[in-house]
Amino acid sequence: VELDASIMDGTRHRAGAVASLRDIRNPISVARLVLERTHHTTLAGEGALRFALQMGFKPEQLLTPESLKKWLDWKADPKRPTFWQNPSENHDTIGMVATDGKGHVVAGCSTSGLAWKIPGRVGDTPLVGCGVYADDNIGAATATGNGDLMSNYCTSISIIHYMARGASPQEACVALLEHIAKTDPANRSGDVCVLALNAGGEVGAAAMHKGNRLKYALWREGKSELLESIALY
Ligand code: ASP
Repeated sequence: VELDASIMDGTRHRAGAVASLRDIRNPISVARLVLERTHHTTLAGEGALRFALQMGFKPEQLLTPESLKKWLDWKADPKRPTFWQNPSENHDTIGMVATDGKGHVVAGCSTSGLAWKIPGRVGDTPLVGCGVYADDNIGAATATGNGDLMSNYCTSISIIHYMARGASPQEACVALLEHIAKTDPANRSGDVCVLALNAGGEVGAAAMHKGNRLKYALWREGKSELLESIALY
């Protein structure tokens, strides 16, 4: 289990991130301390773990008995999916964008990445501009899906750039997905889901295709709603 996470403060234009972090349950909290306690932006692997331990995090077994069994079954299967040849689409990420209603925005993203990834693989989540971006003058964005695909499009900063040119958060999410699909029609079936928000509290969300719909929670004025984004294809 190797975890990736990043968090970005739109006032300071500063992010903190960790990549390929083992044995620590809450990588986003470690990413936040990279932002708050150091002058670095990203720590990876062994160094990220050492930093977490220095900050008082306790190492623990992150595999549940169920996930350990799945991993042992996967290893024993000669036809198992691998990222050498036949990748599986199996992943789960939490991405968040938020505003205080006074012009301040933040973004955060945290994941264990893709199941059965090659050790050391870094997804889009801890890459500033891919998994997160936040700029108080424009807004905040985050992404979930196939990070090996999305990293090539610098998803979050691209959405911010569309917004800087006048697009609403919703228009910006759709514009980026259309661009990804246009550059390679095979990407229409790629797992790409994006969320964005501007400092005025307008929200955007979109998924590339109907087979991988994006459900997202919108919390506003004390009320939380579960919504589903549009899907382009
Ligand atoms: N984007 C993540 C990754 O590729 C996975 C996810 O969003 O579920 O590591």
